Amino acid sequence: MTFTFVTLFQNLIEGYFQDSILKRALEKKIINVDYLNPRDYTLNKHKKVDDTAVGGGAGMVMNPQPLFYALEELKKNDENVHIVFLTPVAKPFKQNDAKRLAAKSHIAFVSGRYEGIDERVVEEFADEVFSIGDYILTGGELASLVLCDAISRNVDGVLGNAESLEIESFETPLLEAPSFSKPKIYEDLSVPSEYLKGNHSKIRSLKLALSECKTKFFRPEQLKKHNCTTALGSQIKRTKS
Ligand code: SAM
Repeated sequence: MTFTFVTLFQNLIEGYFQDSILKRALEKKIINVDYLNPRDYTLNKHKKVDDTAVGGGAGMVMNPQPLFYALEELKKNDENVHIVFLTPVAKPFKQNDAKRLAAKSHIAFVSGRYEGIDERVVEEFADEVFSIGDYILTGGELASLVLCDAISRNVDGVLGNAESLEIESFETPLLEAPSFSKPKIYEDLSVPSEYLKGNHSKIRSLKLALSECKTKFFRPEQLKKHNCTTALGSQIKRTKS
Protein backbone atom coordinates (compact mmCIF):
# COMPACT_ATOMS: atom_id res chain seq x y z
CA MET A 1 0.00 0.00 0.00
CA THR A 2 1.30 3.45 -0.89
CA PHE A 3 0.82 6.62 1.17
CA THR A 4 1.55 9.93 -0.53
CA PHE A 5 1.87 12.94 1.73
CA VAL A 6 1.04 16.18 -0.06
CA THR A 7 2.74 18.70 2.18
CA LEU A 8 4.90 21.80 2.26
CA PHE A 9 6.80 20.26 5.19
CA GLN A 10 8.03 16.75 4.35
CA ASN A 11 10.58 16.93 7.21
CA LEU A 12 7.78 17.01 9.75
CA ILE A 13 6.58 13.62 8.53
CA GLU A 14 9.70 11.65 7.62
CA GLY A 15 10.90 11.05 11.19
CA TYR A 16 7.83 9.04 12.08
CA PHE A 17 8.86 6.27 9.67
CA GLN A 18 12.38 6.03 11.04
CA ASP A 19 11.57 3.76 13.96
CA SER A 20 9.35 1.01 15.29
CA ILE A 21 6.44 -0.68 13.51
CA LEU A 22 6.09 1.60 10.50
CA LYS A 23 9.84 1.52 9.86
CA ARG A 24 9.67 -2.29 9.74
CA ALA A 25 6.60 -2.17 7.47
CA LEU A 26 8.55 0.09 5.08
CA GLU A 27 11.60 -2.19 5.18
CA LYS A 28 9.41 -5.21 4.44
CA LYS A 29 7.79 -3.22 1.60
CA ILE A 30 4.32 -3.77 3.05
CA ILE A 31 3.85 -0.02 2.90
CA ASN A 32 5.51 2.57 0.72
CA VAL A 33 5.68 6.30 1.48
CA ASP A 34 6.30 9.21 -0.87
CA TYR A 35 5.88 12.96 -0.85
CA LEU A 36 4.57 15.72 -3.11
CA ASN A 37 5.43 19.32 -2.30
CA PRO A 38 2.96 21.85 -3.78
CA ARG A 39 5.84 24.35 -3.86
CA ASP A 40 7.47 22.25 -6.61
CA TYR A 41 4.41 22.93 -8.77
CA THR A 42 3.89 26.65 -8.26
CA LEU A 43 4.11 28.91 -11.30
CA ASN A 44 4.87 31.88 -9.04
CA LYS A 45 8.38 33.12 -9.77
CA HIS A 46 9.03 33.62 -6.03
CA LYS A 47 7.83 30.05 -5.33
CA LYS A 48 4.89 31.39 -3.32
CA VAL A 49 2.05 28.95 -2.62
CA ASP A 50 -0.28 31.16 -0.56
CA ASP A 51 -2.01 34.50 -0.75
CA THR A 52 -4.35 36.74 1.18
CA ALA A 53 -7.99 35.64 1.32
CA VAL A 54 -10.33 36.90 -1.39
CA GLY A 55 -13.12 38.87 0.29
CA GLY A 56 -10.91 39.71 3.30
CA GLY A 57 -10.17 37.91 6.53
CA ALA A 58 -7.10 37.25 8.59
CA GLY A 59 -4.16 35.15 7.41
CA MET A 60 -3.08 33.50 4.20
CA VAL A 61 -4.81 30.77 2.21
CA MET A 62 -3.08 28.09 0.09
CA ASN A 63 -3.47 28.93 -3.62
CA PRO A 64 -5.35 26.57 -5.92
CA GLN A 65 -2.78 26.44 -8.75
CA PRO A 66 0.09 24.50 -7.10
CA LEU A 67 -2.32 21.99 -5.57
CA PHE A 68 -4.31 21.57 -8.80
CA TYR A 69 -1.09 20.81 -10.68
CA ALA A 70 0.25 18.44 -8.00
CA LEU A 71 -3.00 16.52 -7.59
CA GLU A 72 -3.66 16.30 -11.33
CA GLU A 73 -0.23 14.72 -11.77
CA LEU A 74 -0.89 12.37 -8.87
CA LYS A 75 -4.15 11.20 -10.46
CA LYS A 76 -2.55 10.89 -13.88
CA ASN A 77 0.09 8.56 -12.40
CA ASP A 78 -2.42 6.43 -10.49
CA GLU A 79 -6.12 6.66 -11.30
CA ASN A 80 -6.89 4.58 -8.18
CA VAL A 81 -5.36 7.02 -5.73
CA HIS A 82 -7.80 7.87 -2.93
CA ILE A 83 -7.37 11.53 -1.98
CA VAL A 84 -8.01 12.52 1.64
CA PHE A 85 -7.97 16.11 2.87
CA LEU A 86 -7.36 16.89 6.52
CA THR A 87 -9.50 19.67 7.92
CA PRO A 88 -10.84 20.47 11.40
CA VAL A 89 -14.37 20.96 10.07
CA ALA A 90 -14.90 17.45 8.68
CA LYS A 91 -16.35 14.30 10.23
CA PRO A 92 -14.09 12.76 12.88
CA PHE A 93 -11.82 9.92 11.79
CA LYS A 94 -12.84 6.61 13.43
CA GLN A 95 -11.48 3.06 13.75
CA ASN A 96 -14.01 1.87 11.15
CA ASP A 97 -12.52 4.35 8.68
CA ALA A 98 -9.03 3.02 9.45
CA LYS A 99 -10.15 -0.52 8.69
CA ARG A 100 -12.05 0.44 5.55
CA LEU A 101 -9.20 2.54 4.14
CA ALA A 102 -6.66 -0.24 4.80
CA ALA A 103 -8.13 -2.01 1.76
CA LYS A 104 -7.08 0.82 -0.61
CA SER A 105 -3.95 0.46 -2.72
CA HIS A 106 -2.92 4.14 -2.60
CA ILE A 107 -3.99 6.96 -0.30
CA ALA A 108 -2.85 10.58 -0.59
CA PHE A 109 -3.16 12.87 2.43
CA VAL A 110 -3.37 16.58 1.65
CA SER A 111 -2.18 18.80 4.49
CA GLY A 112 -3.28 22.40 4.76
CA ARG A 113 -1.21 25.15 6.34
CA TYR A 114 -1.85 28.82 7.21
CA GLU A 115 -5.63 29.46 7.26
CA GLY A 116 -6.21 26.38 5.14
CA ILE A 117 -6.65 25.39 1.49
CA ASP A 118 -8.65 27.21 -1.20
CA GLU A 119 -12.02 25.43 -1.05
CA ARG A 120 -12.06 24.85 -4.83
CA VAL A 121 -9.19 22.37 -4.44
CA VAL A 122 -11.13 20.38 -1.87
CA GLU A 123 -14.28 20.44 -4.00
CA GLU A 124 -12.38 19.27 -7.06
CA PHE A 125 -10.14 16.56 -5.63
CA ALA A 126 -11.36 15.24 -2.26
CA ASP A 127 -12.57 11.66 -2.16
CA GLU A 128 -12.96 12.12 1.59
CA VAL A 129 -12.27 14.74 4.25
CA PHE A 130 -11.47 14.00 7.89
CA SER A 131 -10.85 15.82 11.15
CA ILE A 132 -8.86 14.29 14.00
CA GLY A 133 -10.70 16.30 16.66
CA ASP A 134 -12.35 19.55 17.60
CA TYR A 135 -9.26 21.72 17.93
CA ILE A 136 -7.10 23.65 15.48
CA LEU A 137 -3.59 22.47 14.61
CA THR A 138 -1.08 24.63 12.74
CA GLY A 139 -1.12 22.19 9.81
CA GLY A 140 -2.44 18.88 8.56
CA GLU A 141 0.83 16.92 8.85
CA LEU A 142 0.15 15.52 12.34
CA ALA A 143 -3.40 14.66 11.32
CA SER A 144 -2.12 12.87 8.18
CA LEU A 145 0.26 10.84 10.29
CA VAL A 146 -2.50 9.93 12.72
CA LEU A 147 -4.58 8.54 9.85
CA CYS A 148 -1.61 6.82 8.21
CA ASP A 149 -0.62 5.10 11.46
CA ALA A 150 -4.16 3.94 12.27
CA ILE A 151 -4.72 2.68 8.71
CA SER A 152 -1.32 0.94 8.50
CA ARG A 153 -1.99 -1.16 11.61
CA ASN A 154 -4.88 -2.70 9.69
CA VAL A 155 -2.84 -3.56 6.61
CA ASP A 156 -2.00 -7.27 6.53
CA GLY A 157 1.47 -8.03 7.84
CA VAL A 158 2.15 -4.65 9.51
CA LEU A 159 1.52 -5.87 13.05
CA GLY A 160 3.52 -8.87 14.23
CA ASN A 161 0.51 -10.26 16.05
CA ALA A 162 -2.72 -9.65 14.11
CA GLU A 163 -4.73 -10.98 17.09
CA SER A 164 -4.01 -7.76 18.95
CA LEU A 165 -6.25 -5.97 16.43
CA GLU A 166 -9.27 -8.08 17.38
CA ILE A 167 -9.30 -7.33 21.09
CA GLU A 168 -8.54 -3.65 20.85
CA SER A 169 -10.82 -0.84 21.95
CA PHE A 170 -13.31 0.33 19.29
CA GLU A 171 -13.50 -3.11 17.65
CA THR A 172 -16.64 -3.70 19.73
CA PRO A 173 -18.71 -1.23 21.79
CA LEU A 174 -16.60 -2.19 24.84
CA LEU A 175 -13.17 -0.71 25.48
CA GLU A 176 -10.34 -3.18 25.95
CA ALA A 177 -9.95 -4.53 29.51
CA PRO A 178 -7.10 -3.01 31.53
CA SER A 179 -3.71 -4.59 30.83
CA PHE A 180 -1.05 -5.47 33.38
CA SER A 181 2.56 -6.56 32.95
CA LYS A 182 4.94 -8.21 35.39
CA PRO A 183 5.65 -8.00 38.29
CA LYS A 184 2.37 -9.27 39.74
CA ILE A 185 2.86 -6.95 42.71
CA TYR A 186 4.58 -3.64 42.12
CA GLU A 187 5.36 -1.70 45.30
CA ASP A 188 2.08 -2.41 47.14
CA LEU A 189 -0.11 -2.57 44.02
CA SER A 190 -1.35 -5.98 42.94
CA VAL A 191 -2.94 -6.98 39.64
CA PRO A 192 -6.51 -8.36 40.11
CA SER A 193 -6.11 -11.62 42.04
CA GLU A 194 -8.21 -13.62 39.54
CA TYR A 195 -5.57 -12.92 36.85
CA LEU A 196 -3.08 -14.88 38.96
CA LYS A 197 -5.05 -18.08 39.43
CA GLY A 198 -4.83 -19.43 35.88
CA ASN A 199 -8.56 -20.18 35.45
CA HIS A 200 -9.03 -18.89 31.91
CA SER A 201 -12.80 -18.92 31.95
CA LYS A 202 -12.84 -16.83 35.15
CA ILE A 203 -10.19 -14.52 33.72
CA ARG A 204 -12.36 -14.02 30.60
CA SER A 205 -15.42 -13.15 32.74
CA LEU A 206 -13.38 -10.77 34.84
CA LYS A 207 -11.95 -9.09 31.75
CA LEU A 208 -15.47 -8.62 30.40
CA ALA A 209 -16.57 -7.09 33.70
CA LEU A 210 -13.54 -4.79 33.74
CA SER A 211 -14.19 -3.80 30.11
CA GLU A 212 -17.72 -2.84 31.07
CA CYS A 213 -16.49 -0.79 34.07
CA LYS A 214 -13.91 0.96 31.97
CA THR A 215 -16.38 1.75 29.20
CA LYS A 216 -18.91 3.03 31.74
CA PHE A 217 -16.27 5.33 33.22
CA PHE A 218 -14.56 6.62 30.06
CA ARG A 219 -17.16 6.28 27.30
CA PRO A 220 -20.62 5.83 28.83
CA GLU A 221 -22.30 6.56 25.47
CA GLN A 222 -20.67 3.40 24.07
CA LEU A 223 -22.37 1.21 26.69
CA LYS A 224 -25.76 1.92 25.12
CA LYS A 225 -24.65 -0.31 22.22
CA HIS A 226 -23.81 -3.21 24.56
CA ASN A 227 -25.81 -5.47 26.91
CA CYS A 228 -24.11 -5.10 30.29
CA THR A 229 -23.67 -8.32 32.22
CA THR A 230 -21.84 -7.14 35.34
CA ALA A 231 -21.38 -4.20 37.67
CA LEU A 232 -17.97 -4.42 39.30
CA GLY A 233 -15.88 -1.77 41.01
CA SER A 234 -12.15 -1.33 40.56
CA GLN A 235 -10.22 -4.60 40.82
CA ILE A 236 -6.87 -2.96 41.41
CA LYS A 237 -6.30 -3.53 45.12
CA ARG A 238 -3.66 -2.23 47.46
CA THR A 239 -1.94 -5.10 49.25
CA LYS A 240 -1.12 -2.86 52.25
CA SER A 241 -3.62 -0.44 53.77
N1 SAM B 1 -8.86 28.31 9.30
C1 SAM B 1 -9.17 26.92 9.47
C2 SAM B 1 -10.49 26.79 10.23
O1 SAM B 1 -10.72 27.60 11.13
O2 SAM B 1 -11.25 25.83 9.97
C3 SAM B 1 -8.05 26.20 10.21
C4 SAM B 1 -6.80 26.05 9.40
S1 SAM B 1 -5.53 25.19 10.24
C5 SAM B 1 -4.69 26.50 11.08
C6 SAM B 1 -4.42 24.74 8.97
C7 SAM B 1 -4.55 23.31 8.49
O3 SAM B 1 -4.29 22.42 9.56
C8 SAM B 1 -5.87 22.87 7.95
O4 SAM B 1 -6.03 23.24 6.60
C9 SAM B 1 -5.83 21.36 8.12
O5 SAM B 1 -5.16 20.72 7.05
C10 SAM B 1 -4.99 21.20 9.38
N2 SAM B 1 -5.78 20.95 10.60
C11 SAM B 1 -5.90 21.78 11.66
N3 SAM B 1 -6.64 21.23 12.62
C12 SAM B 1 -7.01 20.01 12.18
C13 SAM B 1 -7.81 18.97 12.73
N4 SAM B 1 -8.37 19.08 13.93
N5 SAM B 1 -7.98 17.85 11.99
C14 SAM B 1 -7.42 17.72 10.76
N6 SAM B 1 -6.67 18.70 10.19
C15 SAM B 1 -6.47 19.82 10.89
